[in-house]
Amino acid sequence: MSARAPLRTCLGCGQRDAKTAMRRVAITENGLEPEEVRGRGGYLHNREDCWRAFLKRKSLYRAFRRDLPRGDREDLVEKLRAQWGGK
Ligand SMILES: [Zn+2]
Repeated sequence: MSARAPLRTCLGCGQRDAKTAMRRVAITENGLEPEEVRGRGGYLHNREDCWRAFLKRKSLYRAFRRDLPRGDREDLVEKLRAQWGGK
């Protein structure tokens, strides 16, 4: 990881890491989508632990400018499991 690599904060564990070590998720008209470039979103590690932490977060307002119902977050985690597999 280069010292110049842009850092992002994981929406799950809350730690900062290289943008390249994480995956982007964003809000679309269909709800939360993985790997969506447009729209307000954030970053998550490709780790089951971080996804679980993401589900437990009380407020995600800072990242998304709105709170997300738990059902929306569960849908996203299902997509992440299907697409990324987790570790
Ligand atoms: Zn994380």
